[in-house]
Amino acid sequence: MKQQVVIIGAGLGGLFTGAILAKEGYQVTVLEKNATIGGGLQTFTRWGQRFDTGMHVIGGMQPGGNIRRICNYLGILDEVQLRDVDEHCSDALYFAEDDAHYTIARGREGFVRSLAAVFPHEREGLRRYVDAIYTITDHVDQFNLRPSHGQMSLLGQSNDFLMPADEFIAQHVGDRRLRSVLAYMNPLYGGQAHCTPAYIHAIISVLYIDGTSRFVDGSSHFADSLAGVITRHDGVVLPGDGVEWIEVNNRHIDHVRTRSGRCYSADHYICAMHPCSMLRLMDAKALPKAYRDRLNSIPNAYSAFSLYIKFKPNSFAYINHSEYYMTRYDDIWNFADTAKQWPLGFLFMTPPDAEQGEYASKALVTAPMTFDHVKPWENTTVEHRGEDYRRWKDECAARLLAMIERLHPGIRDCIEQMLTASPLTIRDFYAVKGGSLSGYVKDCHNMALSQVPVVTKIDNLLLTGQNNNLHGFCGVPLTAILTCEALLGNNYVINKINACDQR
Ligand SMILES: Cc1cc2nc3c(=O)[nH]c(=O)nc-3n(C[C@H](O)[C@H](O)[C@H](O)COP(=O)(O)OP(=O)(O)OC[C@H]3O[C@@H](n4cnc5c(N)ncnc54)[C@H](O)[C@@H]3O)c2cc1C
Repeated sequence: MKQQVVIIGAGLGGLFTGAILAKEGYQVTVLEKNATIGGGLQTFTRWGQRFDTGMHVIGGMQPGGNIRRICNYLGILDEVQLRDVDEHCSDALYFAEDDAHYTIARGREGFVRSLAAVFPHEREGLRRYVDAIYTITDHVDQFNLRPSHGQMSLLGQSNDFLMPADEFIAQHVGDRRLRSVLAYMNPLYGGQAHCTPAYIHAIISVLYIDGTSRFVDGSSHFADSLAGVITRHDGVVLPGDGVEWIEVNNRHIDHVRTRSGRCYSADHYICAMHPCSMLRLMDAKALPKAYRDRLNSIPNAYSAFSLYIKFKPNSFAYINHSEYYMTRYDDIWNFADTAKQWPLGFLFMTPPDAEQGEYASKALVTAPMTFDHVKPWENTTVEHRGEDYRRWKDECAARLLAMIERLHPGIRDCIEQMLTASPLTIRDFYAVKGGSLSGYVKDCHNMALSQVPVVTKIDNLLLTGQNNNLHGFCGVPLTAILTCEALLGNNYVINKINACDQR
């Protein structure tokens, strides 16, 4: 008899966890509230264009990359459709303060070379900085898919690990502008001054320096591939019927009930959604008060306002890399500061189509935004937020477009259609507290609070997803391994992945 597992949430974490467990012989059922599976991998189609919602830039898929190796073990590598960004310019940065442009080339050497060309007096500091982030990353067994003792241990690591990332950078380079340039990926991991630990900054930076890719024609095909692994091993993925209640008795889940009234029982349950949303689905006594208070009190990283643009045919040239716009150097750490005028910056990109030609069919703009901007409408639901909300969104879009014009004069004339999304969209779509881009904040001064274990006080409930460890395309699959190994045994999956590499 196969052991049965019910997974709540068919996002990146739920699908990776389900795929691994199904492959390893568990009977997997994944329940998803949205009509389409994928969570952050989900796309939507409008005006004949497919738009990504929460997975724009991905790392770990270069040859030898950790996520590539996991996909190889799952047998889906051939199905993944990716396009690497330009080798000589994987990211382009613009700082409006002094009208400065920087281009970042791919790879460790390329990164140092491109920035040393602009900051020659910092060449040595740049080298030391890059060596230091690679050293930190090398020490994280989980990131390198090496056997370890379970959830990422920060004990025994060097002082660099838990130093605030801004201070870590300042240790190596003195130039004020270069310090901010080195932190340009902050929006991708919710980076905050005096708070974000250096190891998070190091892992994400190394991941992206080693090479980033973008999904061709949207990220949803990747969700379908993961779901395919589950169904090929007799599991099921059921969208459109979210879990509404988790019945817990004596710290043991008896069953879960979905919106349609169906009940599912299993040997094990895995919650692959935001832990605070999970707490609302169970009785207050299901978990100890101290644990609930802890989950509810961890701050969440900031959210974002997004523009989805459809261009007129053959009007706007395709760009095969991301562009980062920053207003002022000193604000690179201030995206969480509610007192700052919005927007402080944004990420602009033209995602590749299957038959990508000279011109882009669409663009995505993601501008970090704190949740307090949408507080006036926090009690509204999708499509019922009122006229003033619509007007506010239009104003936000106009502000962003005025800034994008500085990068691409005339872009407004190329736009055929445009759609906006706010932190409320993210909150309601993924059921993520505060519409956070990357879940729980990692605070180097309080790592005990920041790291939520995958095991819980309920004996047949595990957690997975971006709030347990690292977020994003790279972090969430690594946490999925941890969750699966809580059932399969320490290093079981890691050893299988390594064995696959040898074949
Ligand atoms: C706008 C945006 C842009 C981003 N860009 C990038 C990027 O470029 N690169 C990158 O690496 N990361 C990016 N991220 C982060 C990335 O999307 C997340 O880290 C990742 O998707 C988190 O995976 P998860 O499985 O924890 O959660 P999710 O993918 O959000 O999955 C949670 C799932 O649970 C479902 N769910 C919730 N409640 C219930 C319920 N009651 N019953 C059943 N199902 C339920 C949700 O509908 C969802 O499908 C971005 C995020 C956002 C919001």
